[in-house]
Amino acid sequence: MATKVKILEPVEMKDENLDDMNLEDIPGLGPKSATMLKEGGINSVSALMGSTLQELEILGLTRTTSKKLRQSVKELFPNIYSDFIEDQSLEDIEGIGPTTAKSLRDKGMNIHLLQTTPVKELEARYGLTATTASKYQSLISAMKGGFFKSAYDIMENERNTDYFTFGADSLDKLFSVPELGISGIKAGDTYEFFGAFRSGKSQICHQLCVTIQLPKEFGGLDKRAIYIDSEGTFSPSRIIQMAQRLKEEHGWDKSVDDILGDILVARAKNTDMQQQITIKLLDILGNTEKDIYGILVVDSVSSHFRAEYAGRGTLAERQQTLNHHLSILNRIADTYGLSIVITNQVQSNPAQFFGDPTVAVGGNIMGHWATTRCYLRKSKGEKRVIRIFDSPMIGELEAIFEITENGVLNSES
Ligand code: ADP
Ligand code: MG
Repeated sequence: MATKVKILEPVEMKDENLDDMNLEDIPGLGPKSATMLKEGGINSVSALMGSTLQELEILGLTRTTSKKLRQSVKELFPNIYSDFIEDQSLEDIEGIGPTTAKSLRDKGMNIHLLQTTPVKELEARYGLTATTASKYQSLISAMKGGFFKSAYDIMENERNTDYFTFGADSLDKLFSVPELGISGIKAGDTYEFFGAFRSGKSQICHQLCVTIQLPKEFGGLDKRAIYIDSEGTFSPSRIIQMAQRLKEEHGWDKSVDDILGDILVARAKNTDMQQQITIKLLDILGNTEKDIYGILVVDSVSSHFRAEYAGRGTLAERQQTLNHHLSILNRIADTYGLSIVITNQVQSNPAQFFGDPTVAVGGNIMGHWATTRCYLRKSKGEKRVIRIFDSPMIGELEAIFEITENGVLNSES
C-alpha cells in the first residue's frame, strides 16, 4: 500500500509545480526507464508530455508504455492536461499488440492509413487477412465515432477548415465564397490545373509551395510543401524570387534558406517512379510529425503516362494505372489532410470543330478526380487567364493573373 500513497502524493502538489515532480515519481516509470529518458534529453515531466510517441520509441520506450505514462501524468495534473489528447496509434486497436503494431509500422502503416487503405491492398502489401483487416477497420471507424456525422457537424467542420492564399489577389478572389468569408486553396481538397505549355501551371505550383509556409496572419498555414516533379521543371531560383517578393510584401521574417528547406522535392522519371514516390509518401507522412505538410504538388501528373502509353492499343492499361495513381493521391488527401494540386497537359480534340479544341489529358478518370478543375491559357504578354472548369462551390468564372520575375501576381484586366 505504501506505493499507492506515493502515487497519490503529487496530486497534492500545486499544478504550477509540475516540474518539481521527478520522472521517477510517475506511476509506472521505473528508475531504469527514467535514466533512459534522461540520457535522451527528456529531463522533466513536461518534456515527456511534449515528446511524440515516435521520439520516445527511439529512446527505447514502447508506445504502449509511453501512453500509459502520459495517461498517468494526465490524471495527476488534470488542470494542465485536460486538453491533452493522446494521438491514436495502432496499439489502440483491440487485437493489435506491440509486435503486430511494430511489423505493420515497419511497412509504413499507421492507424489513419489502416482505415483508408482498401482491404485488398492490406492483404497484398501488409500481409493481413481480409477478415482481420475488415475487423480492424470497423474498430477504427467506431473509435472515430462511426460512419455517420450530422449535417451540423459537417457544417462546423467546414467552418473550421483552413484556406491559404495564392499570393495573388485576382486568384484568391476567383477561389472565394464571399458569403462564407473564405478564399484561396482549401486544406485537404484536390485541385487540377490544366493548360498548354507555358500557360502558368508550374508557376502557380511553385508559388503555392511558398504561400503555404506564410504565417496565418499573412494568409498561409505555416506548413511545409512536397513537390513531385515529373517534367524536371522545378526551380529553386524561382522559389527564391517568389519568397523574396512575399517576404518584402509582408515583412515576413522566415529566411529564404528555411523556405527552400521546407519544400521536399522528388523527381519522378517515369510512371513507375511516380507511383513509388506517392506510395512512399503514405509511409513518410504517417511517420512524420502530424500536420507539418500542407500541400502536395504533382507537376505534371500526366506527362509520363502519356509518353509511356502511346497508341490506342494501350489506352485501357494507361487508364487503369493512372486510376490507381490518382487513388493513392486521394488516399494521401483523405488520410493526412494535405491539399493536393496536380497539373495536367492538354491535347487537341479532333472531334471538336467549334470553340476551343483543347481538352485535358486523361479522359473521364482524370476528369472526375479533382474537386476543382481549372483551365489556364495564355493571353497578351505576360498575362494568363484562369477559368474554373468544374467546382462544387464556385461558378464558371475567370480571372487574370500575370507572371513576372517576382512570381504569380494579381492582374486587374
Ligand atoms: P507550364 O504551364 O508549362 O507549367 P509555367 O508555369 O512554367 O508553364 O510558365 C512558364 C512561363 O512563366 C514562361 O513562359 C514565362 O512567361 C514565365 N516565367 C517563368 N520564369 C519567369 C521569370 N523568372 N520571370 C518572368 N517570367 C517567368
Ligand atoms: Mg510546367
